[in-house]
Parts: sequence; structure tokens; C-alpha cells
Amino acid sequence: MITSQESQTKTKETAKNSMKCLIKEDLNKDGLTLKNDMPSPKLGLDEVKIRVLATSVCGTDKSIYHSAQSEGIRNEMQRYLNGKYDPIIVGHEFCGIVEEVGEAAKNSGVLVPEHLKIEKGDYVTAEMHLSCGHCFLCRTGNEHICTQVKVKGVHLDGCFAQHVVVPYKNVILLNKGGDTSQIPPQIGAMLDAFGNAVHTVYEADVRGKSVAILGAGPLGLMAAFLCHDFGASRIYITEAMDTEHRFKLAESFGADACFDVSKGSKALYESVRKHETGSNGVDVVLEMSGSPSAYSDAFQIVRNGGTVLLLGITRKPLNDFDIANGVIWKGVTVKGIFGRKMFDTWETMLRLMKSDRLNLKSKLARILFERTYALDDYLSAFDLLSKGEAMKLVFTPDKDK
Ligand SMILES: [Zn+2]
Ligand SMILES: [Zn+2]
Repeated sequence: MITSQESQTKTKETAKNSMKCLIKEDLNKDGLTLKNDMPSPKLGLDEVKIRVLATSVCGTDKSIYHSAQSEGIRNEMQRYLNGKYDPIIVGHEFCGIVEEVGEAAKNSGVLVPEHLKIEKGDYVTAEMHLSCGHCFLCRTGNEHICTQVKVKGVHLDGCFAQHVVVPYKNVILLNKGGDTSQIPPQIGAMLDAFGNAVHTVYEADVRGKSVAILGAGPLGLMAAFLCHDFGASRIYITEAMDTEHRFKLAESFGADACFDVSKGSKALYESVRKHETGSNGVDVVLEMSGSPSAYSDAFQIVRNGGTVLLLGITRKPLNDFDIANGVIWKGVTVKGIFGRKMFDTWETMLRLMKSDRLNLKSKLARILFERTYALDDYLSAFDLLSKGEAMKLVFTPDKDK
């Protein structure tokens, strides 16, 4: 027989071990499902369990939300599953407080210097791309393009949840002892995304160069202030959505010329022709939109011998790409950018954030939608994002009841 006290303890325990989260139930249907009593993730021996303070929504999450309309994301989410999809918790950008460290992680942590150890109560974020650690790429300093890379929130359970577990080695320490005053949680949650922009801009030497940024979404805008602060000579930026608001931000971040490409690219081409007279094109193009027309723009406006860095993800193969005119005869260098370098990009980012010479935190905050959301309000949050009324917003699962 269960006494009332026992049953009360049991209820409390269930409450403690269950959590709220957003899952992707069916890839062939748009939307997400809110679960109120999902079992809290089990802590693996080499993992760290983190209470999520803030988690931000990115373009990938929007594609997952609208998965019925994107074969690309459906295929990606089943990449390792032989077509047998198992529902997962979505979300991959977050920060939070360490709740528990796995036993093996504690033991392997003996080699970690004291001040860098990840312990209960620390304020952290994490690299959610999990690499195998053993393939040729992992063993040669290219973990970010590991052949087996799995992304939490895309292939494995993510962080639109009250708790998340992450391998010890992927945890990034933001502050010992849980102090969030230096990097506020809304900004801490955005570091994954900011890392994409940092990685992209660092792959091109933009000092004294003309740069075109295709796409003035969150990543394009981040790239704009980085290029400006790193000394680009002229910055062009394009966008097709919510242009008034985005261009205002872009200009305040240092963009010299903004182009609404929703009705074509003529004005952009003319401006490049007018300003880049000697070279007949821009030195560096950063493609941050994934929009099919942006690829023709990129190779049209890049100068001979210039560089095109591709971060935006096109969800369909490009069928009419003119590689001879766009790349070969122009001698263009093309590079794909995926995720963040592990962990160079993170180290760079943390230094930039901590010194804050470039006012990064206030710039990042201006990209965010002012209001934070409870997971319960995910419908209105995604509605706002889909309509382009918010570029980037943050859920605060820790505040959810
Ligand atoms: Zn993301
Ligand atoms: Zn690997």
C-alpha cells in the first residue's frame, strides 16, 4: 500500500524528472508539439546536464517547423536513420546552468586546469555539433566537418527544453559559479549563431576589402558589424524581407549600401559596377541567405580572383549554376562554411565578448526581438518569425511553470 506521504514524494519526484519541451513529431507535418511531461534527459557518464536559461530560434529551426515544405530538412533529419524517423526535441542554441556532471566526465576532468573545470552551478553554453573524434577530419583539426557529425536539435535531442545533456568536451564555460551578469542569457543563447558569422568573416581577410553580404538576417547583420569593425573598405548588403527594419540596422552597423533584391538585382549590379571600377567586382562575397537567386548574385558581383564564402543553406540543388563563367574563368575561390571551428571560433568569440571593445553585446541585443517567450507560447513565437516580424527570438524555459 502506498501511504499519502509516499505518493506525495512520488509526485514530486515525477515533477522533478519530467520537463517541458518542444518536439518534432512528424516530419511530413508542419509545426512542433509542446510536451509538458517529457522525461528529463538521462545523464550519460561523459555528459553534463544543463538547466536551460535561454534558447534562441534560428533558420534551421524555422525549416524544421515548416518541414512539410522542405525536402532538404526532412532528408537531413533522417540522414543517420535509414528513413525511420524518431521524434526529437528541437533547438540547438542555448545557455544555462550546470546541474550535474557525469561520473566519467568528472574523472576525465582530472587533467583539466581547475579554473576551466565544468562543475555544478557553472554558467555555460555548448557546441551542439557532436563530432566522432576518430575520423580523419577529427584527427586533423577539422572536427567541424567530421564525416559523422550529429547535431543536437537536428539529429539528436536538442534544447527547446528545460534540461539538456551535452558531452563534457562540448560544454563552453561562460562563467564559473553561475554569474550571468557579464554575458546576459539572451546573448549567451545566441553564441552558436554568432559563431557562424565569426567563422565566416574570419575565413576571409576583409581588411581594406570591399565585401558584399547577401542576406540581412541575423547572421548577415552580425557579419556586417564584424566586417565594419575589422576594417572592410566598403560593405554592400542585400535582403528581400522586412527590408526597412533590417536595412536600418545594417546601416547603423556600418553597411554602406543596402539593396532590396525582392524585385531583382539590377541596382546591386549597377552599384558594384559604379564603385568597384578598377577590379570590376567586390573582393569578398559572404552568402548568408541560402536563397537560390543569391548564388547567381554572388558569382556575378565577385571580382576576378575574389572569394565567395557560402554559409546560407540552399535546401534544393542549384540546377542552372554557370560554373565556367561564375568560378573558373574568374579564378574565384569558393569555400563552404559549416558551424563553428572546434574550438577556435569559440575561443575567439569568448575573447571578443569578454573584452567587448567592439560593443558586441549591445549590437547582438539589437538583432533580438525585445520580448522573450515561454515554450508554451511557441505558436505565436514561430508565427512572428515566419512573418518576418521578428528576426531572432529567445525562449526562456527556465521561467516556465
Ligand atoms: Zn542555429
Ligand atoms: Zn569525426
